[in-house]
Amino acid sequence: MHSSGRHFLQIPGPTNVPDRVLRAIDRPTIDHRGPEFQRLGHEVLEGLKAVFQTTQPVIVFPASGTGAWEAALVNTLSAGDKVLMYETGHFASLWKGMAERMGVVPEFLAVGDDAWRRGADPDAIEARLARDTRHEIKAVCVVHNETSTGVTSRIPEIRRALDRAGHPALLLVDTISSLGSIDYRHDEWGVDVTVGGSQKGLMLPPGLSFNAVSAKGLAATKQSTLPKSFWSWQEMLGPNANGFFPYTPSTNLLFGLREALAMLQEEGLDHVFARHRRHAEATRRAVRAWGLEIQCVDEAEHSAALTAIRMPEGFDEAAYRKVVLQHFDMSLGSGLGKLAGRVFRIGHLGDFNDLMLMGTLAGCEMGLGLAGVPHRKGGVSAAMDYLSETAAPQ
Ligand SMILES: *Cc1c(COP(=O)(O)O)cnc(C)c1O
Repeated sequence: MHSSGRHFLQIPGPTNVPDRVLRAIDRPTIDHRGPEFQRLGHEVLEGLKAVFQTTQPVIVFPASGTGAWEAALVNTLSAGDKVLMYETGHFASLWKGMAERMGVVPEFLAVGDDAWRRGADPDAIEARLARDTRHEIKAVCVVHNETSTGVTSRIPEIRRALDRAGHPALLLVDTISSLGSIDYRHDEWGVDVTVGGSQKGLMLPPGLSFNAVSAKGLAATKQSTLPKSFWSWQEMLGPNANGFFPYTPSTNLLFGLREALAMLQEEGLDHVFARHRRHAEATRRAVRAWGLEIQCVDEAEHSAALTAIRMPEGFDEAAYRKVVLQHFDMSLGSGLGKLAGRVFRIGHLGDFNDLMLMGTLAGCEMGLGLAGVPHRKGGVSAAMDYLSETAAPQ
């Protein structure tokens, strides 16, 4: 059935794909062993480094983000290795489940009974590593932007925690929903493997995932004995040096990636990050005006990519989202894992501007009324006031 106007895809990924990217993808597929592809391969493999803020290799897999999670583990670890993973929410839990299935031994660290409302605690990580005097823990795994809760962990402080503990563990970070939306610095923050995906801040359809890898990460792969073939960095890096891939890459998505990287560069990463921070602040002002509660409880850890909002007791987020979808053709993010039924999420990441945010918040506010969810009016006005106060020529 046709509905007129654009669907509002305000889940925290996949995000709205800009027309420029759609047009770049809409081309005949080319020979992935030919000279035209070689230029494309070089361009995207080089261009990606700016987004990760690295000079080290970025590896591209034709897979969803979950594939890059697996690649990060199998290229660095061996069966029975201990890893310290931090419980920030549903995505951290999924990564931990994967680690178990791969045959490594995760310890799931969490502090307090509100771990799903906070970021990874650098002090807790430091204390745990300091106790590991025999250096049995081989890697620390943290989700930078926990998409199920709207909480962003402080990766530079976690790096310092490893350093203060004098611990040699690798640092593995999931940036699937922060890359290209929230400041993230693979080199400066001393991360060994950064995991990324295409369909969130990078404004592409799903289907590409990434590992940025440090020299220490690359060295670890020599000792690592977990089986790896499709996900092997070594298999990739040889052909990548010439702009090629060991197996058929997602050629048309790479056309799109080239365009998305150009768009991020034209806007400037600093502007991209500031735009997301501003939209996140406007969203939080709307939520507070509605009298609803934000899932993240630490002011220093609010996500700039999405906001997770708690439903009033006795009201179901799924029923609310259904009303919003049926009346306003807008998709909002669901509650994930133990937050199912209790939290809905507004995605404000990727290709997004002031009026898209206002349309999103208007749909949310009207939906609260139609679904009979207790709230105050005025969230949309509060967001408009903030956007007006901070408006600048586009
Ligand atoms: C979306 C997401 C994933 C999973 O990525 P897929 O592309 O669905 O495999 C993992 N981690 C985080 C933080 C995410 O936001």
